[in-house]
This record gives sequence, structure tokens and C-alpha cells, in this order.
Amino acid sequence: MYKKNIKGILNNLGFKVGTYMLLVAIVPLMIYLILNNIVISKYFLEIEQTSIMSKTQKANKIFQSEALDLEELAKDSGVWDVFYEKIEEKDIEWFKGDYSGWLPHVFNIDLILIANKNREIMDQYGLKYRNDSQLFADNTISSILKGDYDEKKNYPHGIKRYNGNLYIIGTSPVLLSDYGGPSRGVVVFGKKITPKFLQDIKDKFGYHIFFSYGNEFVSNTEISKYIEEHFHTISKSNNKKTIELGKSKIVGSIPIKDISDEKVGHLYILESRDIFLSTLSLIRKNALWIFILSCSLSLFLGIKLKNIIVNPMKDLENQINKMTEKGSLIDVKTKGTNEFINLSINLGKTLNQMADSIYRHKKENKNLRMISNTDGLTSLYNHRYFYECFNKKITEGRRPITVLFCDIDKFKLINDIHGHIIGDMILKEVGNIINKSVQGNDLIFRYGGEEFAVLLDNYTSEESFGIAEEIRINIVRSRILQKYSGDLPVTISIGLASYPTDSLDAKDLIEKADKALYFAKQNGRNQCCIYKEEINEVLLENSAEFAKQEILIDSALAIGAAIDAKDVYTGKHSELVTKYSLLLAEKLQLSVQDKYVIRIGALLHDCGKIGIPDDIIHKPNRLTEEEFNIIKNHTILGNNIAKHFVKNPAIIACVRNHHERWDGKGYPDGLSGESIPIHARIVCIADAYHAMVSNRPYRKSLSKDVAFEELRNNKGTQFDPELVDIFIKTVQEDLL
Ligand code: GH3
Ligand code: MG
Ligand code: MG
Repeated sequence: MYKKNIKGILNNLGFKVGTYMLLVAIVPLMIYLILNNIVISKYFLEIEQTSIMSKTQKANKIFQSEALDLEELAKDSGVWDVFYEKIEEKDIEWFKGDYSGWLPHVFNIDLILIANKNREIMDQYGLKYRNDSQLFADNTISSILKGDYDEKKNYPHGIKRYNGNLYIIGTSPVLLSDYGGPSRGVVVFGKKITPKFLQDIKDKFGYHIFFSYGNEFVSNTEISKYIEEHFHTISKSNNKKTIELGKSKIVGSIPIKDISDEKVGHLYILESRDIFLSTLSLIRKNALWIFILSCSLSLFLGIKLKNIIVNPMKDLENQINKMTEKGSLIDVKTKGTNEFINLSINLGKTLNQMADSIYRHKKENKNLRMISNTDGLTSLYNHRYFYECFNKKITEGRRPITVLFCDIDKFKLINDIHGHIIGDMILKEVGNIINKSVQGNDLIFRYGGEEFAVLLDNYTSEESFGIAEEIRINIVRSRILQKYSGDLPVTISIGLASYPTDSLDAKDLIEKADKALYFAKQNGRNQCCIYKEEINEVLLENSAEFAKQEILIDSALAIGAAIDAKDVYTGKHSELVTKYSLLLAEKLQLSVQDKYVIRIGALLHDCGKIGIPDDIIHKPNRLTEEEFNIIKNHTILGNNIAKHFVKNPAIIACVRNHHERWDGKGYPDGLSGESIPIHARIVCIADAYHAMVSNRPYRKSLSKDVAFEELRNNKGTQFDPELVDIFIKTVQEDLL
């Protein structure tokens, strides 16, 4: 879900436009920064380096000029007639008074060496020890002593390392005031480069100058700590003209040589990187402004683009979505540029055309599908569609699906009697009744000629059986069907089988429902039967016999109908006695075979009446004894008629003994109690009950309750006492 949301956002047009706009803001900034870095590193560094180098040169010149001052001072003394005389005279006291005793204090001189040609020191100040001849080892000083110097130019001056320190020194040969010679010695004046000396330079010129020589350095006090920290870095980059110390400081470097052109070390100048830092801050400030500017520009462009592209697109999308939701045709309209308006108009047209043709196509398809799936006569779904539906339902989940397999009973007979047109009307009405009975929630199919199938989705087997019974009863009670079929009642038998309990396969399930249906037919029709494994055995055993029985039932039905036609007052007497007898047999859970005996026996029970004269049968008054004996004889007659076409003795006995009494006072054989066959005892009660509730030639019909009372009064005498109560209960239930 979370991932899906992120994906959705990333795919959003508005988001994409926003991202590109942000890139438009960031990219120029990046370019600006990169370009500036290049410019800074290339040009600004060059400028900075040139500046620091020129400052280093200047610093060097400061020292040169200091050295030149010292050379002037040395020359003022050394090129002087008096000095020339005094050095010849070796007047040490004079030198002491005029030089070492006076100069250091007046001119801050730190080093004095006055020596004659023989390297005898006339005066000295600041030497390591009194007769230190180290300075004589210097090539320049020793050349002057040898008289090897340039007369007209300045005398050697510069830097000299001595006694572990650096000095600025000026030299001069000892000559006459007019530079006449020969030289009688050398004068060397020096100033030690100390932190204080460098501080004075800083105060005077504003430069932080410091020197390195060997592993030592000397700087002014202000920066000595800083230099000490960075000395390692500085001394490592000896040959570089500039050394960057982080972002804040830069050092200019120049190598220095002493007065004899010997390498001594380096002169440095330390500067803060003001140019660099101010440029950097300027770039940053500018970058911020550029960023703000490009963000504003992007925002402005983004809003513009949103209005021009994103909003019209969303507008279009919403309208198309609405169209999809409603499934209706729409007129797509949108605001925006001409291109969008045109696009929406064209899109609208195209979509409408597409939707229209899809709609028409769908409709045609639906119609075609409807036609191919529907039965023309009943407008129910057809056999082909049954399998499609069933297979679709079972793929939807493993919930119970029950097939009701319905077959109209004896429909061939109905067709034969009333003709095919009425037959068709009956078929249609049966379809309607099934439809109403299942309340339209489930699928109904005309599976075959007079066979219907119902798919009940997610019902328990009790519920399904209830629905099947509802169908059966509604058909029996249908006035429309009664009107169509007249005396021949329309009934239906229903077999039930369920997925997944009975089978997982549609065809197999139908076969099982068909077996249950066949079983219902064998059991006397007009009933519902749920498939059980045991049915198979019964069906196999009886299938040949069943065919014979069918013929017999047909004949018995015909004879029953003939008897009922003769006895106009009782109407469907044989048929209804059969019905009540079978209800009781069902309640008593008698075997299929017993029910068959009762069915034929009940249909034929009065067949002997065919031989009774009509005037006796229709006589409205009380019968004479003789007439009564003739009537009583119908049981023997019945026995004789039945035995011509019925082989089963139980059926014949049922016909013969249906007027026997429990107390043995009945006829024709005077049997009593349980010696009267059960089938005859059942038909006896049903016969008496129906006779009482029907109009008789000699009296009006009794009410059902009176008839029940009459049955109760005669139990144990006329009727089997146990059967009477069960019969009353069964009929009462049936009446509900
Ligand atoms: P039962 O099912 O109780 O065993 O007896 P039945 O007479 O109904 O049995 P059967 O299946 O032998 O007869 C079915 C009859 O249904 C045969 C045919 O005349 C009739 N039938 C089939 N389709 C139609 C139809 O579309 N219209 C009409 N009128 N009759 C049809
Ligand atoms: Mg059939
Ligand atoms: Mg049938």
C-alpha cells in the first residue's frame, strides 16, 4: 500500500513538473558554483599569488635597504682619513671609544668587527668571543681584507648567519676619505634580526616578515605562535613561492643568500587571505540570491505550467473518470490553451464514439448471449448455459450449490390427452411457478423437454428440500395448471444433489440428481427426493420391474379414472383415496414395494363397481339388504377383474379386503386384526375418510373434523386403532 502510494506520487504529472522545475532552479546554481570555483581557483588564486609575491619582494627590499644603511654607516667610518690613520696606529682605545662604546647604543648596532689587514681585531662588539675569527672565514670579508673590492660601487651588504643568528650587515674597506688606498682593513656593522626587530618592521611597514634558516625561524612576537604551529608545513614547501595555510592565511616565500652568495634560508611574509575570503563570501551571497531568484522563477513557471498543462490534464482526467464511473457518454470540456481545448474536443468526440460503439457492441453481444443462453418457449436459461453457470459458480468458491432436477410427471399422457399446444402452455406455466417459488434469487434452466433444473447457491440441504417442496406444492395447487389439464393433475417430481458433497463435477451432479428424480418417480411421483448412495442399489434392482410397474400404474390410472367417471358424486374418489393411502404409507415409512402395492390397490380398490348397476350406485335413498349385498359384492368383482391383469397377489388382496373390519365383522372374508393385509387396512381408512368428506347420493359431505371424529369413534372396531390416529395427523398436516 505504502509502496503503491509512493509509486502513484512519482507518476503524478504535477510531481514530475515540480521536480523538473526544481532542477531548473538547482542546475543554474550548480553551474554558477562550479564556474565560480574554476574562476576562483584559476584567476583569483593567481591574483592572490601575484599580490603576495610582490609583497615578499618588497619585504626583501626592506631588508636590502636596511643592509644598505648599515653599509653607508660602515663606509662613513671606514672611508675616512682619521680612521685610516688610527688603524695603522692600532689605536685600540680610540676605536673602543668611538665604536663599540658608542655605536650600539646610538644606532642599535648588534655586531661590530674592525680589523686591520693582518686580521688583528681593533674593535669588536657582539662577537661570540673576543678574538673570534669566524667572520674572517666569510669569502666577502676575506676578499675586502685582501684588497679585492669594487671601489666605485657599494660595498658588500646583506644577510649573514653568525653565531646561530641572522644578521643584516654592511661592510666597508678601510680607505682614505677620497677612496684612496690601499685598504688597511675591514669594517663590519650588523644588526641582529630579532623578534623585536621584526616587530619594528611590522609596525613601520605593516608586513609580517619572518625568516627560516636551517631548522630555526625568527618572526615577530605577534605571529611567533602561529608560525611555530605551521612551521612544519611551511618548511616542507620550501621551493614554493606561495604557501596556503588553510583558508585564512597565505605565506609568500623567497630564498635568501648571504653576502657571499651562500644559501641561508628563506624570507617569508604572512598575509591573511582577504581577497580570497571576500570573494568567497561574495560568491556565496550571490549564490543565495541566484538560488532565491531561480526558485522564484521556477515557482512562477511551475504555477504557469500547472495552469497551462497540469490543470487541464486533470480536468480531462476527471471528466474521463466520471464517464467511466457513470458509463455514460459525455461532452469533454476543458479550460486551457487552444491546443488543450482542441484536444479535449477531439478526445471527447473520439471517446464518445468509442464508448458508443462499445456500448452498442456490448448490447448486441448481450442480446446475442441472451438469445444463445435462453430457451425460446419458457424464457428460462437453457441446457447449454446450465454448465457454464455451474462451472462459473464453483470457481467462485467452495460454497454448497444444490441442483434441483425437476421433471413433470406423466407429461406424455398430458400431451396425448390435451395436445401439444396445451402441453406448451403447461410447460411455460410450470417454468413461471418454479421461478416464483425460488423467488428469483437463483438460476432456473429448462434442461430438457419437460425437465427443469434449478441452481441453488449456498443453501443447506434442508433449505433446498424446502424450496423443492415449495415448487412441488405450488404446481399441485396451481389453478392455471388445473384449468389447462382438467381432470389429469399436473404434478412434478424433483431430485436433489449437492456440490461438493455429492460430486464436484457438473455432469456427474446432474446424473445424481436425475437418479434421485428417478427414485421419486419409482416411489409414486409428485415428490422430492434427496440423492443418497443407497438409491443406486434400489434403482438397479428394480429398473426392469419398474418398467412393468409403470405399465400397470398407467392401466390402473385408466381404470381408476373410469371408475371415478362412473361414480359422478365422488368425482376423483379413486385418485384421492390413492393420495391419502400413500400419505399414510409414507408416514409409516413403508417400503417402496408396499407403497407400489398401495398405489395400484388404491387406484383399483373400487374396480369391482364397474359390474354394479348404475341405479344402485346412484340410488339416493337407503339401499335394501339385497342391494347392499350387490354393492358388497364389488370386492369379489374387483378381485376377479384385477386378477386378469395384476400378477401381484398383495394388490389383489388389497382390492378384495379393503372392506374388512378390525373386529372381523367386515366383508367379503370376515378377516380381523392384523390378519387383514396392511395395504387393505390403509386403503380402508382412506376410502372411509374420502367417502365421508364427499357428497354421497344419500347425504351431503361431512366436515373434515366430523369425519376425523367418526374415524376415531370407530377405531378398534372398524379401523385399525393405531393407523387411525396416524392417518388423522397426516391428513391434517397435508391440509396445512
Ligand atoms: P414421467 O416423466 O413421469 O416418467 O413421464 P413422462 O410422460 O413425462 O415421460 P417422458 O420423459 O417419456 O415424456 C416426456 C414428454 O414430454 C415427451 C414429449 O411428448 C413431451 N415434450 C417434450 N418437450 C416438449 C415440448 O416442448 N412441448 C410439449 N408440448 N411437449 C414436450
Ligand atoms: Mg422426462
Ligand atoms: Mg416427465
